[in-house]
Amino acid sequence: MDNIATEEEPCEQCGLCCRIFGPNITPTPSNVYVWIEQGRTDILRWFVAFMEKSPPVNCADLNPLDLGNIVSVEMRNPDTGDYVTVCPFLRRVAKERYLCGIHLVKPDMCCTYQPWIWGETYFNRCKGLCESGHKRRWPL
Ligand code: SF4
Ligand code: SF4
Repeated sequence: MDNIATEEEPCEQCGLCCRIFGPNITPTPSNVYVWIEQGRTDILRWFVAFMEKSPPVNCADLNPLDLGNIVSVEMRNPDTGDYVTVCPFLRRVAKERYLCGIHLVKPDMCCTYQPWIWGETYFNRCKGLCESGHKRRWPL
């Protein structure tokens, strides 16, 4: 989901992709590193890093030197440890309009999510894609 709809980025900010796929987003180690550098424990606490040689650790407690040992990073409720059902960063700003609360530092996979581009994840319920008659275009 983008923050400004343009001809090149036809996202309608309906929030549907975030509501459906948001709980499964996985940041890259680079994303995690940026959050550590910026002191974004508000973001880090929602993720658990599964390590190659040690037990899982909440990303808010992660040592930057351990980033190379990460096998995967998954979203978890920081209070209960449970899977989450809704991305905690999604913000409803109008009846049918949603924005990303961490837009400037959101994970790479959110930045590159463009269902209207050939080769990207197809999502036939994407409102931006529907508006274009489900026509997809080649990457610029
Ligand atoms: S981090 Fe932002 S863009 Fe990514 S799923 Fe959550 S609300 Fe959507
Ligand atoms: S489903 Fe499509 S239009 Fe809706 S927020 Fe996601 S990318 Fe934007």
